[in-house]
Amino acid sequence: MPFHVLTGAFVHESNTFKKGETTLQDFRDDVLDLGQAAIDRFGDVNEELAGFVDAGRAGGWRITHTVSAHATPGARVSREAFDHVAGLICDGARAHRDSLDGILLALHGSMVPSFCEDGEGELLDRLRAIVGPDLPIAVTLDLHAMATPRMVELAQIFVSYKTYPHIDMRDTGLHAGKLLHAAMQGVSRPVTWRAHRPMLDEANAGRTDVPQSAALYARARAHEFEPGILAVSVNAGFAEADILDAGPTVLVTHDAARPGADARARAIAEALADTIWDQRGSVANDFLTPAAAAAIARGFDAGAGPLVIADYADNPGAGAYGDATALLAALLDAGATGGAFAPMIDPEAAGILHRHRVGDRVTLDLGGKRDPAFGGAPLRLTGTVQHLSDGTYTGDGPILGGITHSFGPTAVFRVAGIDILVVTLSGQMLDLQQVRTFGIDPARLSFLVVKSMQHFRAAFEPVAGKVIVCDTGALATPQAHLRPYVRVRRPVWPLDRAGF
Ligand SMILES: [Zn+2]
Repeated sequence: MPFHVLTGAFVHESNTFKKGETTLQDFRDDVLDLGQAAIDRFGDVNEELAGFVDAGRAGGWRITHTVSAHATPGARVSREAFDHVAGLICDGARAHRDSLDGILLALHGSMVPSFCEDGEGELLDRLRAIVGPDLPIAVTLDLHAMATPRMVELAQIFVSYKTYPHIDMRDTGLHAGKLLHAAMQGVSRPVTWRAHRPMLDEANAGRTDVPQSAALYARARAHEFEPGILAVSVNAGFAEADILDAGPTVLVTHDAARPGADARARAIAEALADTIWDQRGSVANDFLTPAAAAAIARGFDAGAGPLVIADYADNPGAGAYGDATALLAALLDAGATGGAFAPMIDPEAAGILHRHRVGDRVTLDLGGKRDPAFGGAPLRLTGTVQHLSDGTYTGDGPILGGITHSFGPTAVFRVAGIDILVVTLSGQMLDLQQVRTFGIDPARLSFLVVKSMQHFRAAFEPVAGKVIVCDTGALATPQAHLRPYVRVRRPVWPLDRAGF
């Protein structure tokens, strides 16, 4: 009999400082695909599900896929959305309880529902109530997971991404699938050890393109070749979620049946966590003010490619609103022209622009509407409509290659020589097609603002003349003390610097 494996994906990174809730409609707007429809969409692209399918093919499994649910990082997940998606996965487990050999889940690790702090732990708890304590459960996590003690108790196998920008989703899914296969065969008895340090997140948020963090991930990979060590995951944490167990963790999944593996796993986890702690004050990014970034943009020689400016603090991928105006205002003040700004997430403005035609001159209030205290107030701007679209694009880069998403009604609004991509639905800049599709060609720009912390580098760094990073004071600002933390265990770095 082939192994019968239940699979599912429920992915959300929740910024607890963001107003409102992430609703079921937010999942529908991004990804909420059932069963075969999800496999058809994600079964052969750079996604965990593709890795699950790869593992299943190699192992001859029968796969029952429940649901793939993703929403753009945002506010806490509503109870309705959580119960709906968790319910689909649990219904699958209940229906097939008697024939299941294992469960394989793609989760984020930093999902915070409105009614509890640990979305992944809650889901695993509900599953254990159905399938009992012993069925092998393998979980993939984002590199920015906050792995809680409860999660680690409730599943045997954890494998996180090892790249940021994240480009190893399929490999991560395959790795977890292989470990699940060995556990189902009874070849290994996997258990996970967790080490944690009292920090909001790792100093460089896990970016694997700077030597200090890259060395951590290289060590993790090397340890995976040791006998009995099955997976070593270095989770940077997510500083925008204020929960008791916030912070970076190291997870070492090992074969408890192998003599000595327990002690070795513990030693590896603690040593890597010590390194994260020792490097806590060492930040690779040089965060510029909006005025300083605008001054560089104004005089930039784009002969080797545009100046790419990351609006780090307003990264929609960290749950920021994506409508901060501070950097756009500075660029306009400085008289920087010939550039683009992508995106400005402002459904109201996109709606107004869609009531016009290409070429029309329009005056409107842009951005700054959700919480002007973080990143600036609305700007009253006059410009021309350059492009109108339904917002659909298909990626062709390392992160989104072959995957279709939509920004919803989208317009390019040109103000004083700057093309502003005004969109309806939230999304981080990950792929060149997120601008090219709407008539913005990076090769012709003097500068390009991207709302992203780090992921943009995978596709945009190769075409950039230079990359700079700006802190606009928006919701995902690196200045953590600007966010009102109340839940995280204190003292914690860097809020309580003096305490360490
Ligand atoms: Zn991440």
